[in-house]
Amino acid sequence: MDIAIINTWLMTFSGKALGIISNGALGIEEDKISYVGTTDGLNYKQADKVIDGTDHITMPGLINSHTHTGVTLLRGGAQDLPEIEWMNKGLGPFMKWLTANDHIIGTKLAVLEGLRSGTTTFAEYAGFVSKLVKQVYLPFNVRVVAIETLNEVSSDRAHLKPTDLYDFDGAKGSAALKRANDIFQEFKGNKLVSSMYGPQALDFCSVPLLLDIQQQAIDRGCKLHMHVAQGERERLQITNRFGKNQTTIKILEKNGLLSDRLVAAHIHDTSVDERSLMVKRGVGMVGCPSAISMIDGIVPPLGHYMKLGGNAAIGTDQAPGPGHHNMFQEMRMASVLTKVINKDPTALPPWESLQLTTIGGARVLGLDKSIGSLEVGKRADIITINLKKLNLTPIVEKPIRNFIPNLVYSTTGNEVDNVIINGNQIISNNQFSNIDELSIIKEANKRAKIIFENAAEDWIEAGSKMVSYHQNGFL
Ligand SMILES: [Zn+2]
Repeated sequence: MDIAIINTWLMTFSGKALGIISNGALGIEEDKISYVGTTDGLNYKQADKVIDGTDHITMPGLINSHTHTGVTLLRGGAQDLPEIEWMNKGLGPFMKWLTANDHIIGTKLAVLEGLRSGTTTFAEYAGFVSKLVKQVYLPFNVRVVAIETLNEVSSDRAHLKPTDLYDFDGAKGSAALKRANDIFQEFKGNKLVSSMYGPQALDFCSVPLLLDIQQQAIDRGCKLHMHVAQGERERLQITNRFGKNQTTIKILEKNGLLSDRLVAAHIHDTSVDERSLMVKRGVGMVGCPSAISMIDGIVPPLGHYMKLGGNAAIGTDQAPGPGHHNMFQEMRMASVLTKVINKDPTALPPWESLQLTTIGGARVLGLDKSIGSLEVGKRADIITINLKKLNLTPIVEKPIRNFIPNLVYSTTGNEVDNVIINGNQIISNNQFSNIDELSIIKEANKRAKIIFENAAEDWIEAGSKMVSYHQNGFL
């Protein structure tokens, strides 16, 4: 045995509930879990490394099921804005100055932040995503679901009003599809990388392209991950293109695109009937509570989708707006916002939030056979959380284990002190084993200063509310 974790509270997430084992132990051999049970039942003395899990929870690594990490250098640059301003007036002026290398630095930053707070799998949604895989995820030994953005809307649309229909550029769609197909070849057999297609949204792709993508996804036995029913801007395009009473869900259903192959992000602009239909068709949903509340002022219908029996997961989306890539913060947001929107303190209890980031996320991403729970034979993606912290004190086991709610409501992410991915220990006793965190922080600061300075004139000219906050001394 390579690693044994002993004397710990195991949360296995196998079975219906959390699968808690007191005085538990976990064995790891190479890249897989080889033992799950009590400490008494494990001959851990033979292990190369023994981690004492006293006063620790040991659980599956967290899964961030939807993220665009490449823009992390713009953290804090666009928020508290009207939804209509966020993209074009808020983020846009900075985005223009972001180089390909800045996306790499942004991803490094986000992945380190995620690792530190217990994320072991990232569903990374980006154009030219293979670069991020090769330059960040694989060197860091981190599990990634590589999702190439497929978009065939002409980039030249700055002159368009939201009511003008976007022009499609078939060549752009084909080039993106080729990139997406290449990923399957390039990382074939790599234990850390899986892939799915990322048609950006129905307003950014034609139906023929979507059908082509779906056929290829069927041939490869993989999924499609798409932004679905994101709100007003998408709705305008859909009604202008397909007719007054049409909606994204109606068009997807008509074309046979609603199925268990589809991972639908956001879905807040859907009716109750549409959500029921999506659940019936087996569509998986990803909600990003921090991002959607910060950018749109809306609570994603996670609680509702789960109540209908749907498979759901959560993600951090991007740093500018929500501000973080920390799945503990995201779990707390998911629970708190769902309680508020339903005026019901029993809505989305901690065990459900925890499932969204473990076995639930794995199910939505189609990875539940290999990750998401602690079971013998599954990949060893494991985190331990130190409960001996002020914010997690006291630790009580009887009659209830108070650390389960505390895990969602009181944990910041800093309490994660061991992170193991595919059997490799990435963080040991709260320190990165092979990653120079400080040099990445230094590089990120250096580049961000240049980007923000370069963008200053464009940003002021765009004239978002952020500019007046700044001029009035609030930023
Ligand atoms: Zn997104």
